[in-house]
Amino acid sequence: MRDPSAFLAQEYGQLVDRQLDWKLRVLHGPSAPRCDVDGREVLMLCSNNYLGFSNHPRLRDAAIRAVASHGAGSGSVRPIAGTMDLHMELERRLAKFKDAEASLVYQSGFATNAGLIPQLVGEGDLVVSDELNHGSIIDGVRLSRAERAVYRHADVEDLRRVLRESEEHRPAYRRVLIVTDGVFSMDGDIAPLDQIAKAAADHGAMLYVDDAHGEGVLGEGGRGIVSHFHLTRDQVHVEMGTFSKAFGVVGGHISGSRALVNFACNKSRTWLLSGSHPPAVAAACLAAIDVLESEPQHVRRLWELTERFKREMAGSGFDVGRSQTPIIPVMVGESSTARRLSDRLFELGVFALPIIYPMVAQGKARIRTIMNAALTDEDLTEAIAAFARAGRELGIR
Ligand SMILES: *Cc1c(COP(=O)(O)O)cnc(C)c1O
Repeated sequence: MRDPSAFLAQEYGQLVDRQLDWKLRVLHGPSAPRCDVDGREVLMLCSNNYLGFSNHPRLRDAAIRAVASHGAGSGSVRPIAGTMDLHMELERRLAKFKDAEASLVYQSGFATNAGLIPQLVGEGDLVVSDELNHGSIIDGVRLSRAERAVYRHADVEDLRRVLRESEEHRPAYRRVLIVTDGVFSMDGDIAPLDQIAKAAADHGAMLYVDDAHGEGVLGEGGRGIVSHFHLTRDQVHVEMGTFSKAFGVVGGHISGSRALVNFACNKSRTWLLSGSHPPAVAAACLAAIDVLESEPQHVRRLWELTERFKREMAGSGFDVGRSQTPIIPVMVGESSTARRLSDRLFELGVFALPIIYPMVAQGKARIRTIMNAALTDEDLTEAIAAFARAGRELGIR
């Protein structure tokens, strides 16, 4: 008899042949600017831990104290018996931080997009998406029965064209939802959210921004993209984010009106049917907000390092793409070159991953670096020197 699971090994084998399988690098100890990866001390240039919060003493202490007072797990899903005072406190604090009427915390950013988007739009609706949106948005959209339209990346004229055409649709759409990443994770560019909000208002569409990479990075004190563009809650209906990147912990969230939060927690299946965060997670996220509010130096430092790295890398002859944020691609072109550069950097003590086809278009392979506020000036000098040396050896610049 034919083995019905034979495809597992076959398809995996194809990935290995094309060098597209993930080979996991293992951290022995905390995610820090200087850390032990696979037994080698390296400078970490590819974590999303922008502010160094994942190992911040105040977050660590908060997590430990919450285990002592509330235990290891929450015991249930949020709507049944898994809502603790820590979860409620976190949502209150987040709403205040975001200057929103209300916030809601999900298990992850992925669970937020996958759980909420299919409730916001359904049959008879249209969802309009930037062509480079994150995979969790794409999956959320797929779970809805709404029609889909895609506009060219960050192209507001093309978005307006899609919105105009949608008005000619018969029968008329019940609702139109525009969804965009705030910061795009491959190039580090920022969505023109002010202009997108105008287009949305002109066409009576709802606007949903996924600010996973803008949180803790953009806006006043790291408040995110809505703050960055000085937009209001009636312009951006859903501000979505994550605690897994600059906040250094884990968990997704939305901020907006009380009506949004009431709707979302009663309808999102990921929120209703999956266990809530352990107390340590909620407490560490709370501490992250505290630290952002009381230690503004981290966000400032992040941008200082970002400017310096871009300036000196460009000065060394590297192409740093169209980045406007601490996500800084170092463009190299061919996938094989990107892989070789990443391997060589690792030998030289710098951990930065290659981003290759099919993650990005053919010929657009790159090393994606992400700045971290906890890097020292000497660390950055060392990282830039390693790039210069490896780049010279491989004939990249
Ligand atoms: C990382 C990311 C997510 C997923 O967030 P998690 O909290 O890690 O699940 C969603 N959207 C975007 C744009 C992201 O970059």
